Amino acid sequence: MLREQLALCEARAVKTETENVNLKAQIATLTAELKLTQQALGDEKQQHERLKKEHEEEVRVWDTVELRRGKRTFNLWRPFCPRCHMPFLLDNRFTVECSGKCGFISDMRKNEVVKIMNDLEAISKAESM
Ligand SMILES: [Zn+2]
Repeated sequence: MLREQLALCEARAVKTETENVNLKAQIATLTAELKLTQQALGDEKQQHERLKKEHEEEVRVWDTVELRRGKRTFNLWRPFCPRCHMPFLLDNRFTVECSGKCGFISDMRKNEVVKIMNDLEAISKAESM
C-alpha cells in the first residue's frame, strides 16, 4: 500500500516537473515575443511621430470654409471642405464646392474665399517677420 502511494507520488512529481519545464519554456517564448512586440511598437511610434510631423498643418475655420496650410499645400493657405476635409474646388465661377463629392457647397462665394486666403497669407507673412 505504501509502495503504491510512493509510486503515485513519484509519478505526480515527475508530471509536475515536466509541466514546470514546459511552463518555463512557454514563459521564455512569451518573454521573447513581448520584447519583439515592444520593439516593433517603439518603431511604429517613432514612424508615426515622423509622419505626423511631416503632415502637420495649420487649420483655420472661417464661415463654412476650412483653410489649411502645410507641406501638401506648398505652405500656402488653401480651402478645404469642413465636412470631409478634401480640397475645395475653385474652378466654378462663383460657388465653392467640395472636390470629394460629399455634396458640401459653401455658402461663401469664390471671391470671398480667395480674399480670406489672401488675408491669411498677409497675416502669416506679417507674423513671420
Ligand atoms: Zn466634402
